[in-house]
Amino acid sequence: MKFDTRAVHGGQKPEPITGAITVPIFQTSTYVQSGPGEHTGYEYTRTQNPTREALERNLASLEGGTHGIVFASGMAAISTVMTLLKSGDHVICSDDVYGGTYRVFETVFREFGLDYTYVNTSNLAEITAAARPETRMLWIESPTNPLLKITDLRKAGDICRGNGWISVVDNTFASPCFQRPLEFGTDIVVHSMTKYAGGHADTVGGCAITSDEKLAERLRFSQNAVGACLGPFDCWVILRGLKTLGLRMRQHEKNALAIAHYLEKHARVKQVIYPGLPSHPHYELASAQQSGFGGIVSFYLDGDIEAARVVCKSTKLFRCAESLGGVESLIEHPGIMTHASIPEAIRAEKGLTDNLIRLSVGIEDADDLIADLDQAFSLG
Ligand SMILES: *Cc1c(COP(=O)(O)O)cnc(C)c1O
Repeated sequence: MKFDTRAVHGGQKPEPITGAITVPIFQTSTYVQSGPGEHTGYEYTRTQNPTREALERNLASLEGGTHGIVFASGMAAISTVMTLLKSGDHVICSDDVYGGTYRVFETVFREFGLDYTYVNTSNLAEITAAARPETRMLWIESPTNPLLKITDLRKAGDICRGNGWISVVDNTFASPCFQRPLEFGTDIVVHSMTKYAGGHADTVGGCAITSDEKLAERLRFSQNAVGACLGPFDCWVILRGLKTLGLRMRQHEKNALAIAHYLEKHARVKQVIYPGLPSHPHYELASAQQSGFGGIVSFYLDGDIEAARVVCKSTKLFRCAESLGGVESLIEHPGIMTHASIPEAIRAEKGLTDNLIRLSVGIEDADDLIADLDQAFSLG
């Protein structure tokens, strides 16, 4: 079955007692046993919950994997994946991963004896140059945030297989609608479902998906042992969100492309960053490994931090907020907001300068969104 059909039906059957077409919210912590140890397969919700299982099956189907494992947030998913490693292990990681990923690696897992090296994974030679005998994992984000750099997932996966490393891709930005890393040989895909998967800026969640039985077994064990599981109601909300993932992603992309073209011609804009523009340095690679370019557009304003501040304050439909991937459009200043924890010198070196603005383009009408940016530019 094709993607949009799997999004609606994947992992879900009518409820057997009433025939309810929508998977019910099994808002329960425990399940009655007919005698000690005589249970239905459900004992305790941290371990098993039917609503969560439906979401897990749906996610596995969308990513083309055999196992979906759902967590309380993207960070809970990422942290649980780290429990696959042990003290002394080394991880090679994309150098502009999500700030929370960098923070948990550096301030939490480093304390447990894991070591991390950050390289530009778009340049495969930098990955091999960082290899050590203790390397066990390669952690990739593609496209990255906010500069939308792309890594060749097939070639990066080949490097991992050749060295016996676990390959992990954070696929939050592209969503399984536009990119399915498991098809390129990635071992584990993770998502912040808070973003496009849920899609309505109304809940927080995360997941890991794999087709490797051994990794799935270990992740399931950790999911239950560590216990960062998502509640039944939030699972239900995200399951509902996923049904429209394809519809939403196509509209996000259509709007993002229209806005990228508009920005490219605007006198107040120095440079537009969108993987769907031929001017993007990884346009060819993005076209080959993704079936769409997503809804995030970044741009450098022709102006200073004050001018950027005025633009971010002056849009009306684009709300100034962190996060991304919801139906409503958002505007943000990475230097002041999402990436403020990166020291200024490193920000400047990476291209996260004071005139950089990031848009999470929603599913509203593109004409209205462009008119909104137009009036903001006339003030800033
Ligand atoms: C938001 C985000 C995360 C963290 O997810 P939470 O749901 O906020 O915990 C991880 N990776 C990427 C790429 C993100 O955008």
